[in-house]
Formats: sequence, structure tokens, C-alpha cells
Amino acid sequence: MAQYTKVPDHSHSDNELMPLVTDPANAFAPIAMRSQILPPREEIYHSKLEKVYLFWIVGASCDGCTIAVTGATHPRLEDLMLGRVPGLPRVELIHTVVSVESGPEWTENLRMAAAGELDAPFLICWEGSIMDETYSGDGYWMGLGEDRETGRQITSLEWLDRMAPLAAAVLAIGTCATWGGIPAAANNVTNAKGVMDHLGKDYRSTLGLPVINVPGCSPVGDNILETASAALLFLNGLAPLPEFDELGRPAWLFTETVHRHCPRAGYYEEGVFAEEYGDKECLVELGCWGPVVQCNIAERGIVDGYGGCMNMGGICIGCTMPGFPDKFAPFYATPPGSFLSATTSRTVGGFIRRVRRLSMHDKQRSARWDSDDSPSGWARHKKQPVGVEKAVHRFYSKVQHFNDGANH
Ligand code: SF4
Ligand code: SF4
Repeated sequence: MAQYTKVPDHSHSDNELMPLVTDPANAFAPIAMRSQILPPREEIYHSKLEKVYLFWIVGASCDGCTIAVTGATHPRLEDLMLGRVPGLPRVELIHTVVSVESGPEWTENLRMAAAGELDAPFLICWEGSIMDETYSGDGYWMGLGEDRETGRQITSLEWLDRMAPLAAAVLAIGTCATWGGIPAAANNVTNAKGVMDHLGKDYRSTLGLPVINVPGCSPVGDNILETASAALLFLNGLAPLPEFDELGRPAWLFTETVHRHCPRAGYYEEGVFAEEYGDKECLVELGCWGPVVQCNIAERGIVDGYGGCMNMGGICIGCTMPGFPDKFAPFYATPPGSFLSATTSRTVGGFIRRVRRLSMHDKQRSARWDSDDSPSGWARHKKQPVGVEKAVHRFYSKVQHFNDGANH
């Protein structure tokens, strides 16, 4: 056990056992015990499995991923826990923050999972990076309960190592858990890393899956639960294995760049850029890395379809990417590569924008107004196109309707 903590056994040297509520009828007993005497719920729709356990374990984390998952709406965590999502088993959540039980009753759930004593399969969602306990001197970085009999401090990492081989799936939640994130930034003293790097290339869950990665700092809550739901459908035998990319990310969520779905992408294409925060145009010259970052927040929003970085006026700092944060620093500085693309957009997009404005001017006029005055007082300042503009409109219209035989 030396690789986990060098803290000696303490407090129970007289073999005093910490009290543990073991009566499953007691509301403070471990949920893994209480759940075993519950009658199967009849309202579990179209699910072969009645329930699964979901262990949410935390390493070096800010709890941002926990906040994100509790804000998920498609599906909601509450609906999963109540078994209200058709095709999905009911989820018994064992979470470091939101579980009812605490202390030895909470830890007992983990011990039962590691000992194979649960009555249903389980998933692990790991939040936070993994700090190297061999660097922790005489202490430990990530304590999570004690051994009941000896009082020995158990670390989160030890629980992961004991439980991962028996888990149906291990999901690394957030950029700290997937790639190391901020705790693994240059000059950190903890040798922090992601779950995938810790468990190694050969790790496979009981479903035969490597670590599933849902990055983001914090991730979109819907991305977390949608991925977990996809894994549960597979576990349930109701859907094929979801598609994951070469980094173990759900491919349908992380293939596209932020830029392709950004509401400001049209400004980029036309070569119009924000000069300061609060401007509505493309933010690339204020430091946005969206063109090279894989993330779906621009179209998905952060909670229930709303919010998200550039939707709210913020730049992309690349928080979903393995290179975050070091390879995106310094933040809020223009990415060097954007000079070429922004200059090209300014040149080409500037021309295209003017041509489009010309065409828009024509499409803002009804055919009647072209041969008569505008009936609207609002449009008094809109002059009839004359000269070159009129000729361009006529030529454009001829080309547009070349094949339809209409007389325009
Ligand atoms: S704000 Fe960022 S993501 Fe959006 S269009 Fe500009 S560069 Fe692309
Ligand atoms: S847009 Fe960029 S900064 Fe915002 S969540 Fe996505 S990757 Fe992170």
C-alpha cells in the first residue's frame, strides 16, 4: 500500500471498529445495502436491467464537473435516478457530494463494489486529475475514507485501482480526469495525470471498453449524462457500442470544431472581427482558439441549451483539449496562427461581404417597388438602384432565372 500513502495506521490501534450502520432498512445504511431490499420498480420502461450503480469519485478537482452534471437536462440526473428514462436502468448514485450517507457508510459502498458484493453492475465516473501519491511525501494528496479495521487512510487512487477492473465502464469526466488539466500544468509538483494515462493502454472494463473520456473544464452536463446513457443502452443490450474517437471521446460530441457551429462564424467568414469584449463579431483577435478546438458548447449551450462561451461573449481557451492549459497559454492573446486566416478572411471576406450587401439591397425591395415608389414611410431613405447597381441587379436576375423561362 506504500504507493498510495505513507500515513501510518492510526486511531484504531486498539482494533476499535468504526461504527457502521448495516441494517438495510435504516435510511443511513450504505445505499448498496438499502438498494438490495428494494422491490424492483415497475415503472422501469423497456429496460432489461432494473438498476446500475454509478460511483462518482473525485481526485484533484474543483467540483465543477459535479456542478455541471447536476445541471444536465438531457437527460436529467434526477430522471436517471428515478428510472424515468425509457430503455435505461435506474441509477443508484454514490457521489462524494450529493449522497445522503457519509463517513464509513459511504465508503462501505466502494468496498462492496471492489469486493464484488453489489447486486447490479456499476460504472465509475471519475472527476479530477490523478495526483501521483509517490510524490506526496509523508502524507497523501487524495484521501477518501479509512479502512474500518485499521484506520489506515485510503486514497481515491486506491479505490480506483481496486474498482476499475470490475466496472462495466470507467468514464473520465472533465479535462482534469481526461488529460490532467490544470493540476497537470507545467511546474506542478504532483505529477498529475488523467485516468487513461494512469490505468494504461491495456485497461479494459468488463464491457471491454477502454476509459471513456468526456473532457471540458467544466464539461457540458448533457455531454456527461448523454455519454453515460449511451454506455448504459449498450450495457442493456438495446443499442450498439457508441462511436468513440481515437482519444476515447464520444465521437458524435467532439468531432466538430467550436468554430464550425459558432454563432459568430459568419462574421469570421466575412472578415469582421471584434475589437473589444461586448462586440458582436468574431472574437479570434481577442484570443479565441475556436477554429482548432473540438467542442460542442456553441450549439449545445451549457445548461438546457442556453449559455456557452461565445454565446455569452467569451473566447475559447481550448479547455476540452489534451494540450490545455499549457498549449493555449497565454490566454486572451491572439493565437499566432490566426494572423494568416484572419488576414485572408479580411481580404476575401471583405469583398464577399460587399457583393452580398449589393445583392441584399436588391432582395430588400419587392418587384412592385422596383417600378413604383415604396409605400413605406420607413423606406424613404432607400433610393431606387441606379446606374451600375441597377445593371448588376438585372444581370444577376437574368442569371438566376436563366433556366426557368420567367420574364424578370
Ligand atoms: S468567436 Fe471563435 S469560434 Fe466563434 S467564429 Fe470567431 S474564432 Fe470561430
Ligand atoms: S468553447 Fe473552448 S473554452 Fe468554451 S467550453 Fe468549449 S473548449 Fe472550453
